[in-house]
Amino acid sequence: EDFERLLAWAKERPRPITLRLIKGAYWDYETVMAGQRGWPVPVFEDKAETDATFEVIARRMLENEAHVHCAFGTHNIRSIAACIAQAEDLGLTPKHYEFQMLYGMAEPIKRALIEMGYRVRDYCPIGQTLPGMSYLVRRLLENTSNEGFLRSAFAEGVDADVLLRDPNEIKPDRKLPAVKLPFANEPHTDFSIAANRDRMRAALEQVRPRLGGRVPLLIGGKEVWAESEIASLNPARPSEIVGRVTCATRADADRAVEQALEAFPKWSRADAEARARKLERAAELLRRDRFQLAALEVFETGKNWIESDADVAEAIDFCQFYAQEMRRIARREYIVPGETSLQHYVARGVAVIIAPWNFPLAILCGMSAAALAAGNCVIMKPAEQSAVCGSRLAQIFHEAGIPPGAVQFLPGKGEDVGAHLVAHPQVAVIAFTGSREVGLKIYETAGRTVAGQAQLKKVICEMGGKNAAIVDADADLDEAVPEIVYSAFGYQGQKCSALSRLILLESNYERVLERVIEATRSLQAGSPEKPGTAIGPVIDAEARQRILRYIEIGKDEGKLVFQGEPRDGEGYFVPATIFADVRPEARIAQEEIFGPVLAVIRGRDLDEAMAIANGTQYGLTAGFFSRSPANIARAAAELEAGNVYINRSITGALVARHPFGGFKMSGGGTKAGGRDYLQNFLFPRVVTENRLRRGFADLPSAKPGNGPGE
Ligand code: NAD
Repeated sequence: EDFERLLAWAKERPRPITLRLIKGAYWDYETVMAGQRGWPVPVFEDKAETDATFEVIARRMLENEAHVHCAFGTHNIRSIAACIAQAEDLGLTPKHYEFQMLYGMAEPIKRALIEMGYRVRDYCPIGQTLPGMSYLVRRLLENTSNEGFLRSAFAEGVDADVLLRDPNEIKPDRKLPAVKLPFANEPHTDFSIAANRDRMRAALEQVRPRLGGRVPLLIGGKEVWAESEIASLNPARPSEIVGRVTCATRADADRAVEQALEAFPKWSRADAEARARKLERAAELLRRDRFQLAALEVFETGKNWIESDADVAEAIDFCQFYAQEMRRIARREYIVPGETSLQHYVARGVAVIIAPWNFPLAILCGMSAAALAAGNCVIMKPAEQSAVCGSRLAQIFHEAGIPPGAVQFLPGKGEDVGAHLVAHPQVAVIAFTGSREVGLKIYETAGRTVAGQAQLKKVICEMGGKNAAIVDADADLDEAVPEIVYSAFGYQGQKCSALSRLILLESNYERVLERVIEATRSLQAGSPEKPGTAIGPVIDAEARQRILRYIEIGKDEGKLVFQGEPRDGEGYFVPATIFADVRPEARIAQEEIFGPVLAVIRGRDLDEAMAIANGTQYGLTAGFFSRSPANIARAAAELEAGNVYINRSITGALVARHPFGGFKMSGGGTKAGGRDYLQNFLFPRVVTENRLRRGFADLPSAKPGNGPGE
């Protein structure tokens, strides 16, 4: 298809273009990344299929020799022979096309072709040594791969008959190993496919006219409206109201707790399987509305397409994963003759879910889905800035058949209705994700026993970070720089996992800094509605003020080495900003800024770099870029963070694959999306029954018995 498109374009031009046909480039990368993303593999999985297609396209090129100069980049004698035979068949002479081969490789083949009168172009990269070297190394690896012709021909002495076989006659024998994953993540949308871009554009168009409506509370399944409202604004265009969200009062909160208590016995005693199915149904509904939900996130939170899409996918993952996990842990039996002992889990009670705005669906959904899978009744308190997304989630839970009393929606002011719920004597669980300041307050309040309190409150508390990445002296900068820039500036640095301290060594400081600056310069800032936007607005006016204040502080504390173009007009835009020569104890290197501001810090050597990385109160994510196995092992062991990433970005944790959450002052180590997470919402309980009756025992059956509560 690509070839035919190029050909059509070439035909419109007065002069021919040169087309260079090659095969196999980045095969490993394409297959591995597609596997990781759950996308169809975009290249042939079998070498013979690639070779056969090469010959087909070569023929199409030769047929259109009037419009394209044919250049065949190959060292494979079978492919070369096929090009020659097809050219002769079409009556073309050797002057009508050329072969291209890498300088220094396959010299005997080149010589033979030249002696036979064919045109051969020897090519090699020119310019800077380092990029040129990395190019040559890649080509060397490709040409000596297990499947490569050169290796078979020259190193392994494979027979000419075998080497020259028609690729169409070779049965495919190389398929990617089918990996059986314990959990399959929802694939992200591939926006390189035009149809997907069209769907997203259409969704943005459909959602926009519906913005600005009023959003009620949901208490006991009833919509509750009140005069007091909080307007949720589009951060890229604050004059656009995304929704007018009813603001819950303390009395509303009390009623919601009552409703939850009423619904609790039935919901908590329902079979774990039945609850799991409802969550899986919610996942299906999220999938159904996937583009609309992503579009809403673009408008309400200023996330770009890719980030919004990933957030919806993560919400789907959470529903599926916790459903699967609840099935797994629902019951454990220990049977000895004459006795059965059943360990099982019971829900804790009313769970208050207090969420931040930066993953408007995923985090609210994750905490809620876990609580629900475990049989708790949840009261969802979304962040003020993303309450419209939150209300869509509550509707979806109801549509999935989760009873009204088990899911209630209570948007409102955190310090008012949120704090009231935390202190409520009948609340059993508080699942909180947000800032350290609020998290610590909640932790403290929940630890204070109040009159009428029925049980110890459980607090799940995930807080902020001041995440560092170290670039080792031998790191591959081609790979590291884009990951660093994405980690620091993806979603404007408003991810708890975002990189905010880049630690460079004396030996590579200038080199890395220069490249990070240039790569940051290339980020497109603008409206998140546009597919090419890398940097959108920050969440609200207050955040913008706070970040700008930190930038002023940074000017005293470090050297401002890069700042993106300021944007005029509407929207809470803050330019991407990099400070160099920042001392490790500076405020901009210690306090969470939660915006597109990167502090670059110098470490004498790896020892000092490690000490700097670990030298904050936080411990959420950390990164290390290196090619040294010994240093990688050291970083893996010593970096104090709940999620340590080696040679990749430090954001973008996936459910099940990268259980997420920190320790120190970043969180309680509860790990959202991990196998231990559900336990936080449950009490383990054991029922032991003596099955001996007057000396006779009924033999234990292999089938699980009907224990209580399940
Ligand atoms: P925030 O702490 O301001 O608000 C979080 C939630 O708490 C909101 O729903 C808010 O209304 C509520 N709240 C505020 N005051 C309250 C109070 N006194 N009692 C009860 N609830 C109250 O955080 P935010 O600005 O929404 O989110 C950004 C913060 O979240 C950053 O610090 C970020 O690092 C953190 N975060 C952490 C994780 C993680 O997994 N560790 C994930 C995302 C975000």
